[in-house]
Order: sequence, then C-alpha cells, then structure tokens
Amino acid sequence: MTNNFIELTEEEWFEQFKPVLNHIDDNASFDGYMFETYGDEVDYVKEQDVHHIWMYGDGDDGGSYIWSGWGFVNRIGYFITEVPWVEGTTYQIQVSIPFYFCENCEKEWEDPDNLISDKFWELQKCPDCATIEEIKELEETQ
Ligand SMILES: [Zn+2]
Repeated sequence: MTNNFIELTEEEWFEQFKPVLNHIDDNASFDGYMFETYGDEVDYVKEQDVHHIWMYGDGDDGGSYIWSGWGFVNRIGYFITEVPWVEGTTYQIQVSIPFYFCENCEKEWEDPDNLISDKFWELQKCPDCATIEEIKELEETQ
C-alpha cells in the first residue's frame, strides 16, 4: 500500500475538508469547531466514521498540528469534517510553529526549525540573555 503524505495550510484544510461546528459546546475552541477529548464531545466524535475524524495535537518539534484520523498521543482536541480524508494518505496541517521558551528571561521565540532550541536548551537561556562567554562555550562544545 502506498502512503501519501500531504501537507496543507489551515486555510486549505478548511476549504477542502469543511470542518463542522461543535453543536455541543457553543463556546468551543477554534472558532467553535474543536471537540474536546472528554465527555459528550469525544463520545460524539467516536460515533463518526473515522475518515471524517481529525486529531489536533502537539508535534514532536513543539509546533501544533492537525492530522487525519483518530489519535491519542499529545492530543488537544478533535475535528469532524464534512469531506472525508482518503485512505492511504496522511494529512498534516501545521497550526502553530514551534517556539522556544527561555527559562531565564521568560521570552518566547518563534523557532520554526528548532535552531534556537537545539543550541540554547541546555543553557536554559536564549540569544538575548546568554552572555558572550556562554555563547562562545556553546559553540565550542557543539
Ligand atoms: Zn532569555
């Protein structure tokens, strides 16, 4: 079986698959489209054909994504779409890019390729608050 991998933007996904509004909670996340992972909402999601179900969760890279199908790991919520996804294809929709949070100065950095995170994580500082000596040391050890 071939497994195609398709990446879409959030707008493309909305237009192509047409998420349905969460009718259980009229104050749902994602402008009213997301279903929670507990209670009546997840029960309703489970009743749908799996091809209409999408999971929203955290990616390994620190960004957040929507994926086709039912999943449990790092899940934040679910979506149900009018248009089903196609068997044999994995869809990934990036919702937010990874960020790096500095424990020292509490600044958040957009870090799409995890370059800051890879370099500064061990130091628990960021490019702003690390000293020149610390950065030098990092560059010598990496
Ligand atoms: Zn910092």
